[in-house]
Amino acid sequence: MIFTKESVHQQIKELVKVQSGLHIESENKAQIELIGEISVNCKSKGYVLSDNYPVQIVIPLDSDILPYVIDTGNRIVKDYPHRYENGELCLETDATIRIRFLEGFSLVAWMQEFVEPYYFSYEFFQRYGEFPFGERGHGIQGIMETYQDLFQEKDPVKVLALMRSICEHPYRGHLLCPCGSEQKLRLCHGPIVMKYYTDNRLKEIVQSDYKIMKDYLVNYYEQLRYCRKAK
Ligand SMILES: [Zn+2]
Ligand SMILES: [Zn+2]
Repeated sequence: MIFTKESVHQQIKELVKVQSGLHIESENKAQIELIGEISVNCKSKGYVLSDNYPVQIVIPLDSDILPYVIDTGNRIVKDYPHRYENGELCLETDATIRIRFLEGFSLVAWMQEFVEPYYFSYEFFQRYGEFPFGERGHGIQGIMETYQDLFQEKDPVKVLALMRSICEHPYRGHLLCPCGSEQKLRLCHGPIVMKYYTDNRLKEIVQSDYKIMKDYLVNYYEQLRYCRKAK
């Protein structure tokens, strides 16, 4: 669960201090809805963005659903790949944001680390046709990229092997690293991946993403087999 009723009000207070164009529009057991404008002031790669964007921000309570932002002013063009049909912004992969909240992330930090850079990347892309900080893929590709970053490992085969081991085994630093390096885990990927073995909340995130990737791969190979048979 990301926000409880008790924890959320202090956080909203802090958020509205830095984004004074926002106010609470409605509140019930399940969620709090903020409405208004956020002001984005970012400067990077020689480009300066200073603009206001009308949004609706929904913060689910006692839930595992992440807070999300709706582009109520339709400032993001419809065919932009990181805007969903319903106007929701595709900020990042779930795992990336979820892990930040587990680490004690606040709504203010969320705004500064994901929402403001989202608009900066968008405007930058509209002007220069490229993304200032690279682009995260969607679906399976986005999940893989997320774990490549988290595990600091470029090779997708090794990333999958590490994810699988985290899901299925306890941490044993003296055993061989699942990446196949022939080194002990604690001398290889161990220091980076240990927390995913030992912190159950992190492990659950890896488990759910590993299942998505595994299902995808199983499906993919089923299809290949089916195609070969059909020939
Ligand atoms: Zn996206
Ligand atoms: Zn390794």
